[in-house]
Amino acid sequence: MNNKTTNWIEVSRSAVLSNLDNLSQLAGRKTKIAVAVKADGYGHGLREMTAILSDSDIPYLAVHSTIEAEMVRMSGWDRKIMMVGPVLPEDIDSIFRLDLEPIITEPSILAQLGKFCRKSSINTRIHLKTETGTNRQGMTEAELKKVITILKKYPELTVQGVSTHFANIEDTTDHSYAKTQLKRFKQLVGILKKAGVKPRLRHTACSAALLLFKETYFDLARPGISVYGYWPSTETYVSYRLGGGKNSILTPALSLYSRITQIKTIEADNFIGYGCTYRTTSRTKIAILPIGYSDGLDRRLSNLGYVLINGRRAPIRGRICMNLTMVDITDIPRVKLYDKATIIGIDGKETISADTHASWCQSINYDILAGLSPLVPRFIV
Ligand SMILES: *Cc1c(COP(=O)(O)O)cnc(C)c1O
Repeated sequence: MNNKTTNWIEVSRSAVLSNLDNLSQLAGRKTKIAVAVKADGYGHGLREMTAILSDSDIPYLAVHSTIEAEMVRMSGWDRKIMMVGPVLPEDIDSIFRLDLEPIITEPSILAQLGKFCRKSSINTRIHLKTETGTNRQGMTEAELKKVITILKKYPELTVQGVSTHFANIEDTTDHSYAKTQLKRFKQLVGILKKAGVKPRLRHTACSAALLLFKETYFDLARPGISVYGYWPSTETYVSYRLGGGKNSILTPALSLYSRITQIKTIEADNFIGYGCTYRTTSRTKIAILPIGYSDGLDRRLSNLGYVLINGRRAPIRGRICMNLTMVDITDIPRVKLYDKATIIGIDGKETISADTHASWCQSINYDILAGLSPLVPRFIV
């Protein structure tokens, strides 16, 4: 544990593994798990998450890009990697070098992959993404027909999986749209099967689906946010609890800390920070933290959020700067230079979570976590 000089992130190994354990139990024995580690492992650190997840028995990690896949391999992951982001022609080399299973989202790249396999006398495993109503990456029935033709031409291409992704499962307690998508998915899988394409793994479930609907489990689930200990949304949590789900199956794994690098007292009627947006009304003691919006402390929390020092709330005063933030410690006793400030985490009886930040910023916990800078050092605890 070195380098805890300014800002740092701690990731709890036991929290991640117990979340994963609880989710695996929900999934049951027939449904395997692929953990989504895109966006630097949802801000937890891709290297650190790979190390922690290597201690589980999950068969897959899901990444967005070949760059992420490269880091996952460098971190020693020797199991399967699914790539959920787009495949560019320039990626084809890396797909073989890194032994990736790309999710195919349009037919022309599949033909290029087939050609490459033929030329190099190699085989590859791929997944097909079906369009069921999200209208993002999936392939329509017409596109899947083209895919079927390409697959017939290139037996080098093994269809390992077929997938879809839900559009409206987190944001509502009315899950009729998800159910329509599920129905469409089954139809499209049927069409593939009829044409002789028999994927080994059908996978549709993100965290919300895994937490709420057994019908979405199939052979593999792809949770992300829940593995890190967060609910995809309040609606998901409410639906889960109303459905009789037991409490506290998820524990947030990440804490973000900074340190007080300066303390000063400002007289009444003085301004703090850029734009003079805060004016003191009385003698005010402020602490300066070397953390700012470039680290992932959202600038929208200027004059709005607070951090925790000695178990007490220290409100953010003035604008959050690129690497610095001023907080009010007037009413917090015994604050010393170099004391720890909790930006996300628990301090005494107080907790600030990514959900707290999300509600302050009118965003979602995913956005807060994914916004944490990869430059902040990560430590597994
Ligand atoms: C990110 C991602 C997931 C994980 O979603 P969560 O809501 O974080 O569980 C699942 N599937 C795909 C295709 C994804 O891109």
